[in-house]
Amino acid sequence: MLIQLTYASRASRTLGPLDVKDILATSQRNNAAVGVTGALCLANGIFLQQLEGDRDVVNRTYLRILKDPRHLEPAILDFSEIAARRFGNWNMGLISSLAENRQMFLKYSPKAEFDPYSMSPASLREFFDEIVHNGVRWIG
Ligand code: FAD
Repeated sequence: MLIQLTYASRASRTLGPLDVKDILATSQRNNAAVGVTGALCLANGIFLQQLEGDRDVVNRTYLRILKDPRHLEPAILDFSEIAARRFGNWNMGLISSLAENRQMFLKYSPKAEFDPYSMSPASLREFFDEIVHNGVRWIG
């Protein structure tokens, strides 16, 4: 069964480009081995990640990610069955808060700052759809 899991968490400290590169490289290596795809956003000190793949595999991946000391206050925002993958080509793409993405980050956020904790499952899905369909700048 194919599912998507979306969660948010807060970076436990200020993460530099090398920290983020490290997270991305590990994610891409591990996810490719087990058929997990998705996207990771980091903006305003908050991670927003969508993982997609087999339900058991995504669960195991998420439980491992939870133990990582680089983030805290994890919250699952959406967990649902999907008919098809959104990020079929990305074992983990990184969407950074580059100036050109800032407007898109705020478009779906009810608050003045990017705050995925306050976003509904529907607006989270639209946010990720926009990333895929509107050529949002991403790394990885
Ligand atoms: P290694 O990369 O060899 O790491 C071994 C251990 O050291 C792990 O427990 C790890 O948590 C810890 N560690 C490694 N580097 C650091 C560091 N700089 N500071 C503190 N502790 C460190 N992993 C995935 O497989 N898929 C994902 O999609 C994914 N997404 C992530 C998203 C976020 C926001 C974060 C913070 C981490 C994510 N990770 C992801 C990494 C995950 O938490 C584990 O670190 C990783 O899966 C462990 O991989 P590994 O067994 O190859 O161990």
